[in-house]
Amino acid sequence: MAKEDQGLAIGIDLGTTYSCVAVWRQDHCRVDIIHNDQGHNTTPSFVAFTDQERMIGNAAKNQAATNPQNTVFDAKRLIGRKYSDPVVQKDMMLWPFKVVAGANDKPMITLNYKGKEKQFCAEEISSMVLVKMRQIAEDYLETKVKNAVVTVPAYFNDSQRKSTIDAGTIAGLNIIRIINEPTAAAIAYGLDRRINCAGERNIFIFDLGGGTFDVSILTIKGKIFQVKATAGNTHLGGEDIDNRMVNYFVEKIKKEKKVHISGNPRALRRLRSACERAKRTLSHAVSATIEVDGLFNGIDFCSSITRAKFEEINMELFNQCMETIERCLADAKMEKRSMHDVVLVGGSSRIPKVQELLQDFFERKDLCKSINPDEAVAYGAAVQAALLSVGIKNVPDVVLLDVIPLSLGIETKGDIMSVMIPRNTTIPVKRTLPYGIAYDNQSSVEIVVYEGERTRASENNLLGSFSLSGFPKAPRGHPFDVCFAIDENGILSVSAKEKTTGISNKIIITNDIGRLSTEEIYRMIQKAEEYKAEDKKFLRKAETINKIDYYAYKIKKALENENFSLKLWSEDRKKISSAVTKATELRDGDEQEEEIDVFEDHLEELINLFERFFEESD
Ligand code: ADP
Ligand code: MG
Repeated sequence: MAKEDQGLAIGIDLGTTYSCVAVWRQDHCRVDIIHNDQGHNTTPSFVAFTDQERMIGNAAKNQAATNPQNTVFDAKRLIGRKYSDPVVQKDMMLWPFKVVAGANDKPMITLNYKGKEKQFCAEEISSMVLVKMRQIAEDYLETKVKNAVVTVPAYFNDSQRKSTIDAGTIAGLNIIRIINEPTAAAIAYGLDRRINCAGERNIFIFDLGGGTFDVSILTIKGKIFQVKATAGNTHLGGEDIDNRMVNYFVEKIKKEKKVHISGNPRALRRLRSACERAKRTLSHAVSATIEVDGLFNGIDFCSSITRAKFEEINMELFNQCMETIERCLADAKMEKRSMHDVVLVGGSSRIPKVQELLQDFFERKDLCKSINPDEAVAYGAAVQAALLSVGIKNVPDVVLLDVIPLSLGIETKGDIMSVMIPRNTTIPVKRTLPYGIAYDNQSSVEIVVYEGERTRASENNLLGSFSLSGFPKAPRGHPFDVCFAIDENGILSVSAKEKTTGISNKIIITNDIGRLSTEEIYRMIQKAEEYKAEDKKFLRKAETINKIDYYAYKIKKALENENFSLKLWSEDRKKISSAVTKATELRDGDEQEEEIDVFEDHLEELINLFERFFEESD
């Protein structure tokens, strides 16, 4: 019974700015990248709310400029983070939507929906994007889809990964695995190329997307794909490039028009959209124009930017990319010369200057662009999804060996970080280390878990803590074991055991700050269902209004034909014209508030009138 959708699993690249979904087609032995209803292979990770409806994807992004406060994007920048996180504080300054601190310092997006103030956490917004991606897949495959592999940036920490899984749960998806984006891209690329590669091949993955930058080094040997090292920057991507362009033009407007638009979210949003378009143009042209009508106080703005100027204002960002590359090579203890291939991933890797710098760095090695950079990640996720599904045939035999992005450890005496599992260790992994009690006469120890590379524990990121207690008072140095286990998703559980008495407290960290509780997730699933129902209702109403409009129009047209209208009894004519008037009221008036029945009843009346009096005249 539960088997019906077990066989089918999709791969979702849940991007900061754009998302992409793909599926392995066993009959065709290939991955299909699934296009959305607009025919695009990527869908904006945008969700918008208005007085009447909720929109996800293109529809949301397209109206962003006119509804900036209620259009949410970048949820991935918030997911698994605290409100007070300096990264969040800095990002917030650039967002036109409002974020406030919720319980447990959880960032909450605050906006207006149907005239009421609503709050959403990042997991909920991401879940809406996931629902959209699932819908896109279901429409294409013409079947229900439940299981998915979702990708995350390699440097996503424990809490960000868990929160991504929570987003999947809220979306009603069963997330069968979380994999790293560069690894997914490597699968895509590796499968494309493996046929003609004997021995071991080192692959450098360069992923410059909308919000994030990832580099990874992988080796492919036979069917084994192993990540050797990853490095990245949480805040480097196309949006940062757009921001620099926006700042450049804000200054220019200040100088030329003597107006400050920096406090006007709508103007900034419109300028940003124009900048993003110009940026894309600059990837194939040497100059681009920026035009925004009625940008601010009725001022039309029109300007242009050359590729050279674009490169100049963004050079610092491009150089940061290069520094990260060096760090990654150093981590992997590999020479740049030993890289066999350099693979481009992410929309921003299309920027010519970026490609030029990369090519120079890798000593004029050709860059691999055989797979579309925006689709590579979803492609790999789809292969992984098929591999994990029961009964799917013809899947390429690939074994993924992923690594953890940050060292994990516990705090020991004197605020020292004792690393249990160093970063770039292959997962899954389980490691047990002996520790000793710090002071005499302790009958409990507090285990405080951190992730990060700093020697002082407190300077790293606190993941959670728990205590192991209940053993007799023991002298200093009394032994206990701590065990760290990381599963295939990169998710950590920690346990501790007191050795002599055998008191073991297998404790999984549960109090990691900001994580949703089971009840909260349950509540959010219900909320998601309600929104789904509302969307459906809205669509039904909108379609009904369209039909009302259509019939009213046809009737009006028919009435214009005098030969015809003169034949009508005056009573009928009165009835018809009042029905048309009511149709216009329903279409334009405040009566949109009314229940769907009112609309449907009127539509039925119009259709009846139309059929009775006008059908032949048509
Ligand atoms: P992410 O996975 O981070 O959401 P993508 O890999 O889909 O993002 O890349 C999206 C980014 O790529 C956006 O910032 C977009 O403006 C940028 N981008 C897309 N096409 C081009 C192009 N032709 N030239 C420059 N930037 C581009
Ligand atoms: Mg991406």
